[in-house]
Order: sequence, then C-alpha cells, then structure tokens
Amino acid sequence: MAELLLKVLGKEKLPSFFDALKDTGTVFAPVKQGEKTHSFQKVDSLDTVELEYTRTMIPPKKLFIAPEETIFTFDKEKEAYIEPEESSERLVLFGVHSCDIHALNLLARVFLEEFTDTLYSERRERTVIVGLSCIPDDFCFCKSTGTSFASDGFELFLHDIGDRYIVRVGSSKGYQIINENPELFLDAGDEDIKQFKVAENERMNSFNQSLEMTGLQDMLDISYTDPVWKEYGDRCLGCGSCNMVCPRCRCYDVQDYIDLNLTTGERVRRWYSCMLQDHGLVAGGHNFRPSAYERIRNRFNCKGSMRENMPNCVGCGRCSVYCPADIDFLEVMKKVRGELQ
Ligand code: SF4
Ligand code: SF4
Repeated sequence: MAELLLKVLGKEKLPSFFDALKDTGTVFAPVKQGEKTHSFQKVDSLDTVELEYTRTMIPPKKLFIAPEETIFTFDKEKEAYIEPEESSERLVLFGVHSCDIHALNLLARVFLEEFTDTLYSERRERTVIVGLSCIPDDFCFCKSTGTSFASDGFELFLHDIGDRYIVRVGSSKGYQIINENPELFLDAGDEDIKQFKVAENERMNSFNQSLEMTGLQDMLDISYTDPVWKEYGDRCLGCGSCNMVCPRCRCYDVQDYIDLNLTTGERVRRWYSCMLQDHGLVAGGHNFRPSAYERIRNRFNCKGSMRENMPNCVGCGRCSVYCPADIDFLEVMKKVRGELQ
C-alpha cells in the first residue's frame, strides 16, 4: 500500500475494537501465566488480555510452524502420500510487538521464498496480525538490531499515546477492518501526529540495553578460539530452551514413523535445537559439534550474523530471560567484542 494511513482509536473504544477483531477470526492475544510469564492464547474477552506485557515466553511463530506436527502420512501399497487437511479457521494475532513482527517477516522469507512451505503460507494467509507498541525492560535491545519499529508484516499496528492509540494500516486486510468499523476510528490530526512522535521518542529513549552491531560478524570470526566459549560452554546445560523461545530460530527435525504393518506411516516435523548434543551428528557417527563450547559458539555466530539481509537476532531478550544457567546474550556478545572482561 503506497499511502501510509493513520487513524486514531480512543481507548474507550478498545472493547468494541476487540469485538470487531472477534468478528474477523479467532483471537490469540497475550495472557498472563504465573508470576512473570505471558503466552499467546485463544481469548474470548478483552478482560483476559494483558496488553502491558513485555514478552511472551514462546513467540508467535508457534501459530505458523507448530512445535510438532505431521506434515504428511504415506501408504506404500497405494504409492500415496496424503497431506493433512489444513484448518480454514481465520485467526487474529492481537498485541504483537515489533520485534516479533520482524521475526515473522524473516521467517516468512525462509518459508515462503524459493520453496513455499504450504502450511506456513496458508496459516499466514488466514491470519490478521495486529501489532502493539511496547516499553522495553532490562533485557530488550531491539533498538540495536533495528527491529524496534515495524514498517510491514502487520495488518494494523496500535501505538499507545496515552488516552488513545495511533493506528497504522499495513495491508488491505487492515484497511478492510477500518472500513467495516468506521464508527471506531477518527482520522489522525496534527495534534495526534505530534503526540505520536513524542511517545515514540520517549519509547526510543527508554532503552537501558544496547548491542553494537557494527562489525559484529567480524568480531565473532576473529574470536573463534576466544576463552569466552569455554567459559559459557561450561555453564550451559544443553537444554535447548534458548532456541525454543527464540522468535528467529527456525531449525526443525524431520522423522518418519512407520506403522507395524511396514506399509503406512507418517512424517513428523518438530522444532529442533542447535544446542542439543546430537544436532551436529551425521550418518557414520561423526559429530561436528560434540562439546557444549562448540555449540554455544555456533549459536552465537548464527545469531550475530545477517540472514536474508536482516540481523538474525531481533533483540527480544527471551534467550537471556529463560536460560536456566543465567547465560546472558548481551554479556556474551560484549565479551566477544572486548567490551567486558
Ligand atoms: S538455554 Fe542456556 S543452558 Fe539451555 S542450552 Fe541455551 S544457553 Fe545452554
Ligand atoms: S537470540 Fe535471543 S535476543 Fe535474539 S531474537 Fe533470539 S531469543 Fe531474542
């Protein structure tokens, strides 16, 4: 869409907006779980949604690539393979932060370009993404990775500017929601735009954490034998949680399960982790990364690199928050850069 369309949604109209989203599809939104954790869950009421969250534990990629799923069943006698029937349920992903939208944009390039993953493309096609501005905490560094503001990859994006939201329209599906609910939205005036800029500047100035990205790949390259990898490799438990919570990680494992009749079976895809011991294991028994320090070095080199012309880390902080060994992503990278000893 060439024209940038700005609307204003008063906060008193949020319940009606939520109802409009429910008319569009089944709504998934951040819900508080336990003391500190949030999760994207199916919601019926705005009362259960926690809009002032920082991050969910599992990123919204779970709605596009399931943690585990059958990608086809096969029948040797019939010489057939059958793809599972994909649901046609329309979904709304409400309250997605810009780092997660950037991560989904990167995943879309992997799963949709060159070889199209039909499961991913069908799910994205029937999903409306509504973004929401956020305030960084002590683990966020998306300003450094250039992912603190999303310019595409959403239908609507809500920016909190106090008593109202500035709503940016990102696609024709978003425009349709605005068109079907004209009573909810006002055109943005000069004062709204001024307030939007003030709120954005405040947000951008509220980051406590940063990572110097310039030359990071080269710094990682020349640090191949740095003792930092042994130091953190000794602490790492090899649990793979950092990969599971990363919105940018996309490695998966594929296994065939053959029924006892040796004729029928299924092929299953599930999320996989480069931090697990067998990730580098190949036929013949050779393991390219048998030690924890080699696996952690591999992961940080992957995250510090550019993929599809974008940083392979969106600065969400999840891997630091959820590492049971308290391995802090920024601390490791700063040691690699020589900023910390
Ligand atoms: S979450 Fe922490 S302990 Fe677990 S594999 Fe990742 S770095 Fe190692
Ligand atoms: S590497 Fe860590 S901080 Fe970067 S996107 Fe993944 S989980 Fe977030």
